Amino acid sequence: MRNAEMALEHARLGGGDQYCFFKSIMAREAAHRRSLENALYFAVRHKELILHFQPIVDLPARRMAGVEALIRWEHPQLGLIPPDVFVPLAEETGAIVDIGLWLLEVVVQQLAEWKKQGIDRYISINISARQIPDGLPPITLIEMCSRYGVDPANLAIEITESVFMGDSNAVKVWLDTVHESGFRIYLDDFGTGYSSLSYIKRFPMDVLKVDKSFVRDMNENNSDRTLVEAIINMARSLKLDVVAEGVESQRQLDLLKEADCRYIQGYYFSRPVTVEAIEDASRRIEQFF
Ligand code: C2E
Ligand code: CA
Ligand code: CA
Repeated sequence: MRNAEMALEHARLGGGDQYCFFKSIMAREAAHRRSLENALYFAVRHKELILHFQPIVDLPARRMAGVEALIRWEHPQLGLIPPDVFVPLAEETGAIVDIGLWLLEVVVQQLAEWKKQGIDRYISINISARQIPDGLPPITLIEMCSRYGVDPANLAIEITESVFMGDSNAVKVWLDTVHESGFRIYLDDFGTGYSSLSYIKRFPMDVLKVDKSFVRDMNENNSDRTLVEAIINMARSLKLDVVAEGVESQRQLDLLKEADCRYIQGYYFSRPVTVEAIEDASRRIEQFF
């Protein structure tokens, strides 16, 4: 019966209206998933989750303006697991809520440390749809910042359009509260989802992050370049900033400069690095100019 159920689940996931025979790989995959789920549950408590930080460069200022916090899982047996593998799982199981609370505290402590050292730098964090509105209430963000004496302006919240798929009134209240409290809102992976302009109008936004798939395929004369330029121009007229992500080459950088893109993120300037390596990365970036 269990095997039949697994096959049924497969048929459903495949869109339904079909049948499917059980294969032993389905059982192996399900077992693997279960063990990953269990391990993930303990990962936060066992301090297996770590953060890397990727610089975001302010071109006119010729410096690193901030960093994006990117999570990694140092699994004792499996090694470093990238977020693409475990974040969706954490979202499904709800573990993302605990992970998000842990991450928030680590990030805010780091901002407090920089403030003490007189370093002006922001951190942006990725928030899943699952965390809005109740997984990460605005009051938690506000209290965490005030506990460590951190200015909310130095904490950016990256969301994707998937958050608008939920209860959009609740999402609006969450975003409005967070925005009014001084946090900046970034719309991540812009251009890949519905990219509905009505979202930008209805919800408070400060920055658009142009998705790396457009940047990757940009060249002198193609539609990706035109699209990126259109996004930048549109953002300018709406008084939004733009970060281009996934910038890997001088050529991409040159095209983005020509298009008047202010902020750049990508391997060209720096890969995501450990917290200890941030100051080095910052110095290296200044030498680019
Ligand atoms: P994202 O938010 O779009 O993050 C950018 C991803 O692009 C990162 O992958 C980064 O390492 C990668 N990247 C940066 N520059 C380049 C480049 O020049 N070329 C290429 N090819 N890739 C580049 P990463 O760290 O593997 O993260 C993947 C995704 O996992 C993130 O995509 C984000 O959606 C999610 N994620 C990461 N950390 C968190 C987190 O703390 N919470 C949540 N909810 N999601 C997270
Ligand atoms: Ca992001
Ligand atoms: Ca992105």
